[in-house]
This record gives sequence, structure tokens and C-alpha cells, in this order.
Amino acid sequence: MCASSSAITDGNMNFFKRIFSSAPVRSRASFYAFAVQCDRCGEIVRGRINLDSDLSADYEGGHELYHVRKVLMGSDKCFQRIEVEFDFDSSRNVVARQASGGRIVETG
Ligand SMILES: [Zn+2]
Repeated sequence: MCASSSAITDGNMNFFKRIFSSAPVRSRASFYAFAVQCDRCGEIVRGRINLDSDLSADYEGGHELYHVRKVLMGSDKCFQRIEVEFDFDSSRNVVARQASGGRIVETG
């Protein structure tokens, strides 16, 4: 019977609608994307920072700073660890950045 199969489809639709309607409410996709180039093999490794959950607050001389540190690894051919650090101000603008094991080639 057609009736039962359409009921299942409707159920799935509602399920997905719930996911998509509830997800974007809080996380306005505030990600900071970047790419680093491996010092050893030249591979571009991409990473991103979740500006809501990855940052740790820091107070330097009365200024509010947010610090994040990430360790990236490229493909399995190269085991170089690339460590990146970013500092953000209270408006989530990058005020300092550095990398070891590679260099930052792209941000934004
Ligand atoms: Zn590499």
C-alpha cells in the first residue's frame, strides 16, 4: 500500500526538518578558517577554529584577549606536526598569530 510508505517519508522529512531548524539557532557558524603550509613537504593543511568553543579567555593589561592553539597534521605521508596559535580581541578579530612546523598561508 502506498499509504504506509508515504507515512515513513513524512516521518523522515520531519526528522530532518527538526535537525536543520534547530541547529543554526545558536551556532551562527562563527568559524575562523585558515590554512598552513607544511615546512617539510609543502602540503597545504586546512583547519578551522570554532570561535564559540575553542577560545580561552585571557586578560592582559586590562585587555580582553582570546587565545587558541591548534595542532594540525597533514596526510599520512608526512608526520610533521604543525602548531598554530591565534590571539583574538573581544570582537573576534585576529591580533596575533604564529605557527611552528609550517607557516600560515591563508586566513579568514
Ligand atoms: Zn608535511
